[in-house]
Amino acid sequence: MRRLPLLAAALALLLAGCVPTARSSTLFAMDTVMELTVYGPRERVDEAAELIHDAEGLLSVTAEGSDIALLNSAGEGEVHGETAALLARALEICALTDGALDITVYPLVRAWGFTTGEYRIPEDGEIEKLLEGVDYASVRLEDGAVTLPRGALLDLGAVAKGWTADLIAEGWREAGVKSGLINLGGNVMAVGSKPNGGDWVVGIRDPFSDGLVGAVSVRDAAVVTSGGYQRYFEEDGVRYCHIIDPQTGRPADSGLTSVTVIGAEGVLCDGLSTAVYVMGLDAAEELWRENAGFELALVTDEGEIYITEGLEDVFTPMDGYENTEIQVIRRG
Ligand code: AMP
Ligand code: MG
Repeated sequence: MRRLPLLAAALALLLAGCVPTARSSTLFAMDTVMELTVYGPRERVDEAAELIHDAEGLLSVTAEGSDIALLNSAGEGEVHGETAALLARALEICALTDGALDITVYPLVRAWGFTTGEYRIPEDGEIEKLLEGVDYASVRLEDGAVTLPRGALLDLGAVAKGWTADLIAEGWREAGVKSGLINLGGNVMAVGSKPNGGDWVVGIRDPFSDGLVGAVSVRDAAVVTSGGYQRYFEEDGVRYCHIIDPQTGRPADSGLTSVTVIGAEGVLCDGLSTAVYVMGLDAAEELWRENAGFELALVTDEGEIYITEGLEDVFTPMDGYENTEIQVIRRG
């Protein structure tokens, strides 16, 4: 009998070793609420929070002294290795999307008031003038030295969270983490599987209500959503969203109201979610057919749902969408 407490203690230790405890942290950074959960030591969460603050310090377009703010005020300069690496990848995604993603579109983002919240509709002439500086292809990047074209201002806001999630996930995997969830304001990265071995289930917000349009079951994947409903203003009954079409200099109005991109690389998913929101359904289908590495879940202004075929078995409609016909986009 005297051995029982000892046995119980040994069993408790054994079980604790099998199922790691969840450590979580909620923080506000990059203008959004973030949540980190890791099944492992608290250190992992603390390291990730530090990484997020460091990334924001380098990349924020508004933070004084960031690489991007310094570049934008001088038009040229040296940047840190991390900034250069993201810049290089972002420029590739701009090219891949034929400029639907354009990291030099910031003068327009600012003119519409999305930086300060002092929203306004710029005059046609002002838009034309500002568009002259928008051209990602003229950004020069050589050994960490960057030169911007005249009139261009950089903004990595469309890719920074996805890239940061990649860095955190990489660090966690190297440290042996088998299970974790990184949620950077709706920009989600699932690391490994759930602690019980099942898939992570990530909800996709309904652009028309507070509920969900559905959820996807994933492991080791980013799930990134861009939507006009995330940040916008209204004037005379017209809604103006924070994603700008670099062709027109005006808020994108492609017929899509929510774009979710799912794939292994967070920065690609983040860049593509913004770009596909600009491109619209037909161009998105073409982009998906011509490239590997990502899947799409799209909601149109009319509330129709389109998914690419890789999501057929992992997407579940919810909250009133259960009977909506889901259109599947196929390769062939
Ligand atoms: P996301 O939330 O990832 O879709 O990124 C939207 C943010 O990226 C906006 O708040 C702007 O700062 C910036 N942005 C808006 N339109 C574009 C665009 N066409 N290309 C690149 N960045 C953009
Ligand atoms: Mg994005």
